[in-house]
Amino acid sequence: MSMELATCLTTDLVAITRGRSFPADALDGYLRRGTGWVPANMALTPFDVIAEDNPWGSAGDLRLLPEEATRIRLPQLGRTPLHIYFSDITELDGTPWECCPRTLLKRAIARLKAETGLTLLASFEHEFQVLGGGWPAAPAFSLAAMRRADPFGPELLELMEQAGLEPEMFLPEYGADQFEVTMRPADPLTAADRSVALRLLVKELAAQKGWRASFAPKTAPDAVGNGVHIHLSLRDEDGRPAMRDESRPGALSERAGQFCAGIVRHMPGLLALTAPSPVSYLRLQPHHWSAAYACLGERNREAGLRICPIATLGGGDAAKQMNVEYRATDATANAYLALAALINAGLAGLREGLVQPPLVNTDPSEFSPAELEALGVRRLPENLSAALAAMQADALLTEWLPPLLTGCLLSVKRKEMQLAGELDAARLCERYKAIY
Ligand code: GLU
Ligand code: MG
Repeated sequence: MSMELATCLTTDLVAITRGRSFPADALDGYLRRGTGWVPANMALTPFDVIAEDNPWGSAGDLRLLPEEATRIRLPQLGRTPLHIYFSDITELDGTPWECCPRTLLKRAIARLKAETGLTLLASFEHEFQVLGGGWPAAPAFSLAAMRRADPFGPELLELMEQAGLEPEMFLPEYGADQFEVTMRPADPLTAADRSVALRLLVKELAAQKGWRASFAPKTAPDAVGNGVHIHLSLRDEDGRPAMRDESRPGALSERAGQFCAGIVRHMPGLLALTAPSPVSYLRLQPHHWSAAYACLGERNREAGLRICPIATLGGGDAAKQMNVEYRATDATANAYLALAALINAGLAGLREGLVQPPLVNTDPSEFSPAELEALGVRRLPENLSAALAAMQADALLTEWLPPLLTGCLLSVKRKEMQLAGELDAARLCERYKAIY
């Protein structure tokens, strides 16, 4: 017999989910008072080496306060039930800790609503590889690729259903042993919680079978990239779809066009939060269907921001389906901060009434420099230090982040770059493959 534990979770700057467990039958007290937490935990690199020049050092204490409604309990996963709560980091008196990523997302959502009346629906789409299955090779997108992993797909979707993740689809992707999972759109906080939960579920299910799942942006220099695509769809004051206007370019409503313009304008600096690891830049290359350019495209998989297709067959409601997909992100990004950053960038576009960017509906890497310039399309930063510099140069991106957190991010990322800098591309991919 063993005691059942429940765990409070938080996800940090390097997108690692950490937490503390307590006896599940003592939940009531922990729901009110949380567990202890340490500020300098935020300064860990993915390699478990701390950035020494972080703002806190050995000082300070915080609480990890679980949110009851986020409970996931899966008895059949692992040897004892997986029982988790997404949590906010607070001060000892319960006031929110200014650097808590989940709290920062809540603030971004509230700000969008307060300034514009708009709300957002979001969904994270994940690609990952299941390694160690020892399967024979199978063609991309094939039934054989899916069935050889059976019952991984059905079991995963069953777990997701039980965990309230509202699974939509499981599919074999283009890369070797690569799969993709999609979930129904939800409010942004729920969508980010689901993104974290999905990664935990996939990894634990694969481990239970003696395999290993990796969401790393690249698991080998020549491997197909594992992307995370964030789908976004605005709703108006009455909760009605607010994205579509068939009279306008790309059928984007005026407000959706402004929101997209904000994201495209800030995309170079956004990368510091959405593609925040050295290995992210092996994926963000032209011709990879990832996102090498800051532009808006209609149904173009090389655009950083893509207007997704509308399927009108079977009575599909176009206004409801209308959404854009931010493609320049991956699993080394904190889902809460990535989404909060996108919301703040989109909000700037709405606030300033920015003009919708031109639609780039073919691969931007095939344009000449002069054509790119005429369209106002920029190549995105090609490495992490360029992305960090772009973020620091972008007042909007640093304005909503507490200076303490910006400072910590820079320290962590510099340390990560220093440690990663010792590795060639193959070993870099190996390291991130094992961690993510
Ligand atoms: N694997 C691609 C990426 O790294 C995405 C492919 C797709 O469009 O689904 O983002
Ligand atoms: Mg895909």
